[in-house]
Amino acid sequence: MTKQIIFAFTLAVTLGIFAFTVNRLISFFRFTKPSCQIKDFWKRTLLTIEVAFGQTKIFRKPVVGLAHALVFWGFCFILFGSVEMIIDGLFRVEKSLKVFGPVYDFIMAAGDIFALVIAILIIFFLVRRIYGHIKRFEGIEMKPSSHKDANLSLTLILLLMISLMDMNIGYVGFSISEGTAIEGKYPVAGLLLPLFGSMSAHDFKMVYEVSWWVHILLIFLFANYLPYSKHFHVFLSVPNVFLTRLEPLGKLPNMDSITREVRLMMDPEAAFQAIPEPAVVERFGVKDAEDSTWKNYFDSLSCTQCGRCTSVCPANITGKRLSPRKIMMDLRSRMKEKGPNMVKYGKDFNDNRSLLRDFITEEEIWACTTCNACAKECPVNINHPTLIVDMRRYLVMEEASAPGELKIVFNNIENNGAPWQYSSEDRLNWVKDLELNTK
Ligand code: SF4
Ligand code: SF4
Repeated sequence: MTKQIIFAFTLAVTLGIFAFTVNRLISFFRFTKPSCQIKDFWKRTLLTIEVAFGQTKIFRKPVVGLAHALVFWGFCFILFGSVEMIIDGLFRVEKSLKVFGPVYDFIMAAGDIFALVIAILIIFFLVRRIYGHIKRFEGIEMKPSSHKDANLSLTLILLLMISLMDMNIGYVGFSISEGTAIEGKYPVAGLLLPLFGSMSAHDFKMVYEVSWWVHILLIFLFANYLPYSKHFHVFLSVPNVFLTRLEPLGKLPNMDSITREVRLMMDPEAAFQAIPEPAVVERFGVKDAEDSTWKNYFDSLSCTQCGRCTSVCPANITGKRLSPRKIMMDLRSRMKEKGPNMVKYGKDFNDNRSLLRDFITEEEIWACTTCNACAKECPVNINHPTLIVDMRRYLVMEEASAPGELKIVFNNIENNGAPWQYSSEDRLNWVKDLELNTK
C-alpha cells in the first residue's frame, strides 16, 4: 500500500509539472497567426506512417539513419511496458497487460531486445557526438548548452535502458528462483542471467524493485525535462509530420491582401470582378515571434537540431551565414523569451527586441535561395522557407528594405509591369534583328 501511495503521489507531481509546462507552451500559440487548414485526414495519416513511423527521410545516410530508426522503433515497444508500469504502480498489480497473451509476449520480447540495442546505439551516438567532430553538429547556433542538452538527454536514455535491462533480469531471476511463471518473454535477460548465477531470490527481488523505481522515476524526470530540451521532438515529431503543409514545397503561401492588390493592378478583368475585401492586416510578414504562424512555432518546438537541413543548404555550404536550423532554433528561443511576458502583459508587450535583427539578421534571410532543400531533407517535415520569406515580406512591405539589386527589380515591376528595365512595348525588340526562317 505504501508503494502504491508513493507511486500515485509521484505520478501526480510529474503530471502536474508536465501539464504546467505544456500549458505554458500552448499559451504562446494564441499569439501566433493562423496557418493552413488541417484537412485531408487520410493523406496526412499515410504521410505520418511513412515519414514519422517509417522514418523514411533519415535513410539518406543508411547507417546512421538505421541507427536512429531503431531507437525510434524500440521506443514504441518500450512505451508499452512503461504504460504497464504505471497501471501496475497505481493498482498494486504485477504485469497487468499480460491479458494480451501472445501479443504481450511479443512486445515484451521486442522491448527487452531493443533495450540492449538502444543502449549500444546511445553509447555510439554519445561517442560520435563527443569525439566524432561531425560537421552537422557544429554551427553558430550550436552553443555549448546545445551540446550539453543533447548529451544529457542521451545519457538519460542510456540510464533508462540500463535500468530496464536490470529490471528484466531481476524479474526473470526472481521468477526462476521462486519457481513462479514468467509473464512475457525476455530473451536478453535470459541470456545475461547466468552472469548473476550466485544471486538468491531475495537479491533478484531487490534488483527488480530498485530498478523498477529507478526506471519509472527516470521516465518521470525525462518527461519533465523534454519540454526544455531539443528532445521535445520525442513528443512533437509525430504530430508535426501529421500537420505537414501539404502544398508542393515550391509553392509559397499567398497573402490575401497583396494578391488582391496585385490582381487589381496586373489584371484589367479583375477590376470588374467582385474580389472580397481582405481582413485588416496588422502586420505584413514576420518581424517577431508572434507574427509567425502557429505551424512555424510548432515546427520550432519539433526541431531535433539534427542539422540535416543546414547540411544541404546551398547558402550555408557556400559559406553564407544562413543556417535553416538556426532559423528554427531562434524562433523557439525568441518565443521562450517573449512569450511569458506576452502572457503577463498582453500581446502588445514590447521589450524593444525582435526575432528579426536581434536573433536573425537580414543578411541571413536574404541569403536564402528558396530552393526548399532544407524542407525536403528535414526528417520531421519542418518548413523553413515559409518563415524566411515572411521575414522578407516584413522588410520589403513595412520597411521598404531590400538588397539594392532587388529594389531595382521592384521598381521595374511597379513601373513596367515586368522585372526588366525597359517598357513593355519594347519587349519584342530583341527579335527585330533575327533572321527568322518562316518557310
Ligand atoms: S530554402 Fe533557403 S534555407 Fe532552405 S536550403 Fe534552400 S537556401 Fe537554404
Ligand atoms: S529543422 Fe529539421 S532538419 Fe533542421 S535541424 Fe531541425 S529537425 Fe533537423
